[in-house]
Amino acid sequence: MNNSEPSLSPNSSHRDQSVWRKYLQPDLILGGSILSLTPQILAEHQLQGLILDVDDTLVPFKRSFASGELVEWVTQIRQTVDIWLVSNNLHQSRIRTIADSLNLPYLHGAGKPSRRKLRQALTAMNLPAHQVAMVGDRLFTDVIAGNRLGLFTIWVEPIMAKHLNSPSLRNLEVWLSMNLGVPLHQPPKLR
Ligand SMILES: [Mg+2]
Repeated sequence: MNNSEPSLSPNSSHRDQSVWRKYLQPDLILGGSILSLTPQILAEHQLQGLILDVDDTLVPFKRSFASGELVEWVTQIRQTVDIWLVSNNLHQSRIRTIADSLNLPYLHGAGKPSRRKLRQALTAMNLPAHQVAMVGDRLFTDVIAGNRLGLFTIWVEPIMAKHLNSPSLRNLEVWLSMNLGVPLHQPPKLR
């Protein structure tokens, strides 16, 4: 992050808190998994492209294949928008297997909240930033990266297998963000 971005020092001022809010506040809190993102919602926000996080957004971290439901969702959504996968995961074979099964382009090892690989996907889409959404389950990686690049940001619930525990790091991020004044409790808009 550059010098104009906030610090998390114990002496954080109100100004710092409002800057954190700017970066941590998603434009849309979906309130469900990515499977509840519909073409209607995309049209309402005039979105032409999606950059999707992979782990826990598309596929539970402990699985390595796309579910039938996800394949169906991608088939429907790609009729209206361009889609790229941008993952922080360093294991290319995992991300490539998932991307190939969905027939989608991907970038791995993105280091979000770095903007670098998001910008690379955005350039490949050849769309203005505000018409592209960064969609992910994590505030301090996906949402911050998207907001830093001026993308529309969509925060989703993790796509968890029922037997897996909820991810504690995500819960910590939510707690910290709410303590920084980010309102993350509003219900999704009814559509
Ligand atoms: Mg994730």
